[in-house]
Amino acid sequence: MESKHKNENIRCTVAQCCHNMVTEDFCTLGCISVGTHEANPTVPECTDCNSFVKRTGCCE
Ligand code: SF4
Repeated sequence: MESKHKNENIRCTVAQCCHNMVTEDFCTLGCISVGTHEANPTVPECTDCNSFVKRTGCCE
């Protein structure tokens, strides 16, 4: 099992993602992919982290 390292450049509070550090509000990936599910995004809620992976049954 690989150890995870905090990426201080990517803050994230999505504890349900297996890439989240959980003990601190940071992502552990080296980089992430962000996208949108809207035709014309106007607010932060219109954007998505496309690197999200549900925690259950994955990396840990
Ligand atoms: S992959 Fe995206 S959702 Fe998951 S911890 Fe990193 S920034 Fe958050």
